[in-house]
Amino acid sequence: MPRGVPFLSLVSQLSSVRKDTEAAIQRVIRSGRFILGEEVAGFEKEYASFNDVRYCVGTANGMDALTIALKTLGIGVGDEVIVPANTCVPTWAAVSAVGANIRPVDADDETYNIDPTKIEAAITPRTKAIVPVHLYGQACDMSAIQTIAQRHRLQIVEDNAQAHGATHQGKLTGTFGAINATSFYPTKNLGALGDAGAITTNNATLFKKAMALRNYGSLKRDDFSEIGINSRLDELQAAILRPRLRLLHAWTKERQSLAKSYWSELSGVGDLILPAIGQGSSHVFHLFVVRSRKRDKLKQFLAARQIETLVHYPTPPFRQKAYEHLGFKSNNFPVASAIASTALSLPLWPGMRPSQQAQVIENVVKFFHP
Ligand SMILES: *Cc1c(COP(=O)(O)O)cnc(C)c1O
Repeated sequence: MPRGVPFLSLVSQLSSVRKDTEAAIQRVIRSGRFILGEEVAGFEKEYASFNDVRYCVGTANGMDALTIALKTLGIGVGDEVIVPANTCVPTWAAVSAVGANIRPVDADDETYNIDPTKIEAAITPRTKAIVPVHLYGQACDMSAIQTIAQRHRLQIVEDNAQAHGATHQGKLTGTFGAINATSFYPTKNLGALGDAGAITTNNATLFKKAMALRNYGSLKRDDFSEIGINSRLDELQAAILRPRLRLLHAWTKERQSLAKSYWSELSGVGDLILPAIGQGSSHVFHLFVVRSRKRDKLKQFLAARQIETLVHYPTPPFRQKAYEHLGFKSNNFPVASAIASTALSLPLWPGMRPSQQAQVIENVVKFFHP
């Protein structure tokens, strides 16, 4: 009797960095320095280098990174920010947190990312920025988005929480916007052992402002240049992230190779739609999202065989109670609504065994061709 397949397991990832993780924790304990010490500074330098930017600012989590990035650009009450209709709530919540108004744009039917051809219709004289989300791990069509942003003098703030290391036309996500945000939530492609996030930028002025904003508005002891918040990256999490960052490329390759196997084994099965890669974009497979009109039945069928799947996301932000006051209906965003009712994320993680993936494939095929 097979043991079933979880949606995701962090066990093998943890075991591949266990020694370094334990050494990192010991190092922090021995240092006696727990806030904004050498580990945070070291990780920031290493992540900036990984992401090919001049500056990185560690933050407490991804939503704060987005919020601080928007604040750094001076975006606030009365401004409008364009966000994808198809994303998880924190992207929207960050815009709300700075007091700006949300202007959602529907998804592209092939890549599931924001549809650049629908952005201009959402721009008004109050629009200040676009927040593209590289959803599920695939880079957005950043060249199209940049063209629109330049034409309308809008800022870009990337939400790179799901796509560390993805590229568009060879350029890394997290480098297109003036200032960008990412998350190291434990299940992200680069994950900490708790909450963590970061901002990336090439602009020295924005960097300094973001550094101040994450630390009550202070860059120097007893000197407050901004009204900030407390959203520092924890010294322990920074130390834990450093050895993981060194393995990220290898982990991404594993994700991509698992995706390839799903592709070759599941194409043409039932009415399944497999992920499509947009022109010029790369995909780091934070999630392997398939679509089917029989999604709910397929999910149940797999669950009955101890195969865990998830839906990203069953209720898009525009259908959440929190955003009820905006008055959106499903037919305002038909593509995002269709994705919400047909998408299913299959198990995929670095360290997933071929036998586990074979079990998923076998049962998906069995569902459609009993
Ligand atoms: C995870 C995630 C966030 C939020 O990150 P946290 O670290 O949980 O605050 C924001 N946007 C996207 C697209 C995410 O996947």
